Amino acid sequence: MRQLEPELERRRQAGLYRSHRVLESPQGPEVVVEGRTLLNFSSNDYLGLAADPRVAGALREGAQRWGCGAGAAHLVTGHTGAHRELERALARFTGRERALLFSSGYLANLAVLTALCGRGDTLVLDRLDHASLIDGARLSGARLRRFHHNDPAHAGRLLAEAKGEKLLAVDGVFSMDGDLAPLPELARLCAEGEAWLMVDDAHGLGVLGEGGGGSLEHWGLGQGEVSILMGTLGKALGTAGAFVAGSEELVETLVQQARSYLFTTAAPPALAEATLRSLEIAREEPWRRRHLKALVARFRAGAEALGLPLADSATPIQPVIAGGNERALAWSRHLEAQGILVVPIRPPTVPEGTARLRITFTAAHEEHHVDRLLEALEGLPR
Ligand SMILES: *Cc1c(COP(=O)(O)O)cnc(C)c1O
Repeated sequence: MRQLEPELERRRQAGLYRSHRVLESPQGPEVVVEGRTLLNFSSNDYLGLAADPRVAGALREGAQRWGCGAGAAHLVTGHTGAHRELERALARFTGRERALLFSSGYLANLAVLTALCGRGDTLVLDRLDHASLIDGARLSGARLRRFHHNDPAHAGRLLAEAKGEKLLAVDGVFSMDGDLAPLPELARLCAEGEAWLMVDDAHGLGVLGEGGGGSLEHWGLGQGEVSILMGTLGKALGTAGAFVAGSEELVETLVQQARSYLFTTAAPPALAEATLRSLEIAREEPWRRRHLKALVARFRAGAEALGLPLADSATPIQPVIAGGNERALAWSRHLEAQGILVVPIRPPTVPEGTARLRITFTAAHEEHHVDRLLEALEGLPR
């Protein structure tokens, strides 16, 4: 058996060591960590629904009706009326034939890539795609080709060389950079190359589009152009889990074949009830998206005035690149000393040499929160 301590020590030395922060409060713009109240810019709770009393109420009522555990996988006895209701609501919300629930986005991505591709097939992924897409690609056994970030010309060349079944998968909004994938161009390439196009919209759903329909609503693309949509429920929707939406045949193929669907317990039905409520709120309260946009604009104007290096992002994900790991850590500590929580993001989550502060905004933030953040950023040791 190998010694584990040397590798742990190596990580400490390289500024890569990660540790838990224990929250003593619900998720929100202010959180309590080790007895200290911090202004929080490190969640994916974009619409501010994670601790919404109406969503928590639906969870409570759901638990009264259904109890807690689903008790089995979906195809055994774990699939309840609450799950079915939510799948129908998600299909309507995304304008697709059918939606299928998963316990997490990670599992949903594994499901799609392993069910549709295998040995002899080709998966074409953006270099900055989420780790769960990379892992799904590896698990599938298909050949994995990666194109330069947001470079459709490169993607097109890789597709032209591809053998077997072809699938191109991208994040709709890149999780650590906040920029959008050029979906109309990628959709054209995939149509020409007879490839599946899959969009992982973990950070777009609920946030982009007038109605919160996400990246596809933003670009005006439907099931005809983007055959596979994966959305997560633990970010803007404030609950947990994920779904894949598309054609009847696509969903039925996942039901029959995807091992990360078949061999895992269904999420609690009460959670489905909570998500039904948050989906309604996401649709009926467009002010949340408008407010979020205004906060992002306020931040970008202020940061520009300070001469901070801003990324090309119009979404609530606003990275400030530090470069080295130690520098990102020092920046984060500097902010924390002033009562502001921005967790440093380091490799392998982001490429080597691009460690950063990943600042995120939520609809629960207020303008004065943004101003306090800007004040603290002004004093960053640079
Ligand atoms: C968070 C995330 C996932 C994984 O979703 P979970 O439900 O948290 O497992 C997948 N893709 C992207 C782009 C993500 O940001």
